[in-house]
Amino acid sequence: MTLPQPADPDPDADPAARRDLVLREAVRRRLLDPEDALLAAFVDLDGVAASVAGLRAAFPASLDVLHTFAAKANCLVPLLARLRELGMGCEVASPGEFAQALAAGFEPSRIVLDSPAKTRRELVRALELGVAVNIDNWQELARVDELLRAGASASRIGVRVNPQVGGGSIGAMSTATATSKFGIALADEGNAERLVEAFRERPWLTWIHVHVGSQGCPLDLMAAGVAQAVAFAERVNGELGRRQVVGIDLGGGLPVNFADDTTAPTFAGYVERLRAHAPELFGGGYRLATEFGRSLLAKNGFTAAYVEYTKTSGGRRIAVTHAGAQVATRTVFMPDAWPLRITAHHPSGAAKGGAVVPQDVAGPCCFAGDLVATGRPLPLLEPGDLVALLDTGAYYATTHFQYNSLPEPAVHGFAVDAAGAVHFEPLRRAQDVEELLRPVG
Ligand SMILES: *Cc1c(COP(=O)(O)O)cnc(C)c1O
Repeated sequence: MTLPQPADPDPDADPAARRDLVLREAVRRRLLDPEDALLAAFVDLDGVAASVAGLRAAFPASLDVLHTFAAKANCLVPLLARLRELGMGCEVASPGEFAQALAAGFEPSRIVLDSPAKTRRELVRALELGVAVNIDNWQELARVDELLRAGASASRIGVRVNPQVGGGSIGAMSTATATSKFGIALADEGNAERLVEAFRERPWLTWIHVHVGSQGCPLDLMAAGVAQAVAFAERVNGELGRRQVVGIDLGGGLPVNFADDTTAPTFAGYVERLRAHAPELFGGGYRLATEFGRSLLAKNGFTAAYVEYTKTSGGRRIAVTHAGAQVATRTVFMPDAWPLRITAHHPSGAAKGGAVVPQDVAGPCCFAGDLVATGRPLPLLEPGDLVALLDTGAYYATTHFQYNSLPEPAVHGFAVDAAGAVHFEPLRRAQDVEELLRPVG
């Protein structure tokens, strides 16, 4: 009788084994190299497809929902194109993101423009192309009035309201506080009445947009904000005696668990809270749009960097690596709000085992605070090892901070086939020094 062989860890079931496999392959194919590719980011394209499927499945199929991806979370054109193929639309918030969404092939009617500081030119282009526009404030409303007098538009146009339901645990991520810079503050004296009149005078104003915040906002706070927006839509339609508001754009903001490999909360869990707070959303009377970013990408990416040196200083063990504030800006500047898991790997990419010791993991930037972790228990790092910063598929390597003229690293998409073979595809090549020497004239 032959005993069953112990199975290899199944990379599909075991995210750590999957990352390990990808890192080993990346080293073997020199996508990571101790001289030429000191730092690189990786995006799990199978994982992204699964996350999109989870989002779509969370909403009842009977509803008309446009799921858009918030481009700022990962703005690489090939990735946006992949999301388009998966059936997503695209939410953009700057002229650059707008151009990236068009380059990725999104139909204008599946793009939502939310720039907080839309220029006249940006608005003209959106209205000409038929891109959906969410107006942020009274002055922007007057500007759109003026542009529409010059010519009609196929764009569906909404107003962003601030439901002023309060903030979450990260102030900078909370967009529905009493004094937030975003949207028209619904509870401010006179604003709700004035906005009802604005709808009455403008039959083309047909959507309400709300985005309560991002990382750190509890689901019930987000759902309460959406409920305020829906209640306002009902009020407009009631006072006008016609169903002028036809759509609610719920924004994004589902928080991500950075503590382990579990995806929590889930899209389904959020939809359940939305049902509890705003049942009218599910009655079929409104079209819906969503704008999720971090929750679709964060856990589907990691960033890998070489350890260049190790040292001790005043009793602190420090590993000097090539990943710091340039790719982990929020973690470095707000370490308590944005802690990242870090794993240690041999030069081959294989996970490092052994006893753990507290170590500081530093980046390459010339300032003392350039640390992605302090006192972190990790297997002892040595020069030539690799570290991986986990859950960095959104807002990390693709929102690069240009400090010390450190170049943007390459970003590689990957997929693992049924036979366990890893397939890489370039999403962004590394910036080279020549590009930093761009001539002035
Ligand atoms: C940033 C942003 C989003 C996406 O937020 P996530 O936390 O990444 O889901 C969606 N809508 C608007 C208006 C935003 O500013």
